[in-house]
Amino acid sequence: MNIHEYQGKEVLKQYGVSVPEGKVAFTVDEAVEAAKSLGTSVIVVKAQIHAGGRGKAGGVKVAKNLDEVKAYASEILGKTLVTHQTGPEGKEVKRLLIEQGCDIKKEYYVGVVVDRGTGRVVLMASEEGGTEIEEVAAHSPEKIFKEVVDPAIGLQPFQAKRLAFNINIPKELVNKAASFMIALYTAFVDKDCSIAEINPLVVTGDGNVMALDAKLNFDSNALFRHPEILALRDLEEEDEKEIQASKFDLSYIALDGNIGCMVNGAGLAMATMDIIKYYGGDPANFLDVGGGATKEKVTEAFKIILSDEQVKGIFVNIFGGIMRCDVIAEGVIAAAKELGLDRPLVVRLEGTNVEIGKKMLNESGLNIVAADSMADGAQKIVALVK
Ligand code: ADP
Ligand code: MG
Repeated sequence: MNIHEYQGKEVLKQYGVSVPEGKVAFTVDEAVEAAKSLGTSVIVVKAQIHAGGRGKAGGVKVAKNLDEVKAYASEILGKTLVTHQTGPEGKEVKRLLIEQGCDIKKEYYVGVVVDRGTGRVVLMASEEGGTEIEEVAAHSPEKIFKEVVDPAIGLQPFQAKRLAFNINIPKELVNKAASFMIALYTAFVDKDCSIAEINPLVVTGDGNVMALDAKLNFDSNALFRHPEILALRDLEEEDEKEIQASKFDLSYIALDGNIGCMVNGAGLAMATMDIIKYYGGDPANFLDVGGGATKEKVTEAFKIILSDEQVKGIFVNIFGGIMRCDVIAEGVIAAAKELGLDRPLVVRLEGTNVEIGKKMLNESGLNIVAADSMADGAQKIVALVK
């Protein structure tokens, strides 16, 4: 789960990470009020969306007086920001962070991630702050330094200091930077984060080390033990279809393509997406209806696929092991009757009660293309949406 920058900064503050004073604003008036109460001469108006790259896209503006705060807040609120992380459709800005302007001397990067290679938490840092770390990794990988953390003892002060030295933090601020990193690491572990990225971390004119940006991601599987984090969820930032799917316990991820997929089992769902790609198509989603799905669950899954306007055709690929093919057929028929099936549908069923399932689909009066195998089904749906 993702949260906004201003929320991330609140969380980090509790662990002693230093951040500029700031307030969230939902309207232009609130933005001006917030700026007044901060009382600094320079105020930064920042779009709050669940995506980075806002600065380059015009979502971060430095205001020198309240009139400018008002002007920038009016400009950014309601605007659709297109950044390298939002996709071409962009994201509408509904919240702003009104923050004290910071006297930046130099920008750095610090990130905490889980490294699958070592199976450990890794702290990464670079003196190339402000720019995307992916770019640094591509062009000057020697400027990225890492410290692997032993989970039994946590991030050690000497590691944090070594990292601070490596990224050329001014000598007199190395201790501050090390404390910053330890606080960040502690927050990461304590809150079950999957990513904690500070880009930029800055050294300020008056000798402080601060987080000017904060991106926190949380492991959804651990959210049950962090109700205070779950409360920060902003449903407006999430895909509506994914929210709907989570209500019905369906594993659904929206993708960019135009072939809707209804599959059971994560492995088969992945293989189905692969084979669609192999035959030149593009899946519109990952969907695993699960092992013991009911008719209602299947109906809901089918509705979610149909509600996606990008979907030009649907491929149902079911191997009925625990899941029975007749239940799938029932769900497909119920959803198609309720919503009308206006797009091509290819069905490949195999396994328990396959004959009953096929018979039900044949007699349903729906326009269904039957497939004998996964490859056959994939080829048929790719041809139909072309
Ligand atoms: P994004 O990563 O989405 O572009 P950031 O929060 O990193 O957004 O902001 C982009 C840039 O704007 C920063 O690299 C920094 O130079 C500047 N900036 C952000 N917040 C402040 C602030 N409070 N004071 C001064 N400059 C800021
Ligand atoms: Mg940033």
